[in-house]
Amino acid sequence: PKTAYVRTKPHLNIGTMGHVDHGKTTLTAAITKVLAARGTGTFVPFDRIDRAPEEAERGITINIAHVEYETDTRHYAHVDMPGHADYVKNMVTGAAQLDGAILVVSALDGIMPQTAEHVLLARQVGVDHIVVALNKADAGEEELTDLVELEVRDLLSAHGYGGDSVPVVRVSGLRALEGDPRWTAAVEALLDAVDTYVPMPVRYTDAPFLLPVENVLTITGRGTVVTGAVERGTVRVGDRVEVLGAGVETVVTGLETFGKPMESAEAGDNVALLLRGVPRGAVRRGQVVAAPGSVTPSRRFTARVYVLSAREGGRSTPVTTGYRPQFYLRTADVVGDIDLGERGVARPGDTVTMTVELGRDTPLEPGLGFAIREGGRTVGAGTVTGLL
Ligand code: GDP
Ligand code: MG
Repeated sequence: PKTAYVRTKPHLNIGTMGHVDHGKTTLTAAITKVLAARGTGTFVPFDRIDRAPEEAERGITINIAHVEYETDTRHYAHVDMPGHADYVKNMVTGAAQLDGAILVVSALDGIMPQTAEHVLLARQVGVDHIVVALNKADAGEEELTDLVELEVRDLLSAHGYGGDSVPVVRVSGLRALEGDPRWTAAVEALLDAVDTYVPMPVRYTDAPFLLPVENVLTITGRGTVVTGAVERGTVRVGDRVEVLGAGVETVVTGLETFGKPMESAEAGDNVALLLRGVPRGAVRRGQVVAAPGSVTPSRRFTARVYVLSAREGGRSTPVTTGYRPQFYLRTADVVGDIDLGERGVARPGDTVTMTVELGRDTPLEPGLGFAIREGGRTVGAGTVTGLL
């Protein structure tokens, strides 16, 4: 039998973000290596992280690697994603769940467009704490690295992260992965910064249970398993739950976290829920598992939206009433019609109020963050302000 998960330390969800090739995956592997040496983690090599199993759900390729480790004081689930589109689809839209992020910036290249976009979207979806890994410090010249650090602090300040006080740690994921003691110590310093700078978030464990479905697996002979991070509340084996969007009410017959069975899961935990008697194909990514009757899906809402500028990877032309992009809400993507009211038009760089009518009923609530996408790029980031 598998060993049960024992909750001995507070659990947090973090992730690496930043421009492609700045070293996110290398650093993730290095972190697991450093902690494996301490005996509080299992080494996960680069290839295992970068080749996380792909799953196609409703035409979207989901590619996300979760690794798990402990520091002296905390248990972490850490996500790393291969490409920019994956960030927007998975991390950014689910980032309401991220308690903190490690922004990886190459000391050789400095801020690049995806660096800026990830910071912007992290802010928008409520990731309140960022720690910077100034990576490839083994190869950079000190003076240039100093300039990159200033540039990153300015970027963070511009997005309300208090760039002067954000920890910036010079690391080399590559050298730490090779076992170089100097750079191993640098990765330890980075982990210490995460431990101390990212506070333990308030968990809404008393609220009704809610989990946005990230992935669905069918285990022959056992049934349907859904995975995701518990957004709020608590769930126990034997609890009744409903799957919104699937019209299914059922019972949780098993719970696991990182392959270890658990009796109860709470807000912030990354879990797999085994659901009794759910037919294959009935449940999909984007749906929500919740305490029965606790959520009423809706389709019309008001929102405050920032329209990305062309420089940030957004549109170069305005959007107008009648525009129909995709809305990424939690793990769902849904088409929606926008209405800009009397204003009628929003230019790149504007922050506007809009009314949205989604193509289908979706669990919504004030404060929920979302991304707006069109033709494979992010064109807006917003927050639900009211339901209609
Ligand atoms: P990602 O796209 O951000 O996940 O970047 P990767 O981890 O795949 O790394 C991209 C490239 O940068 C690879 O060739 C790595 O070997 C290299 N790299 C990563 N970290 C370092 C580092 O600390 N120092 C140096 N010199 N190269 C690195
Ligand atoms: Mg990568």
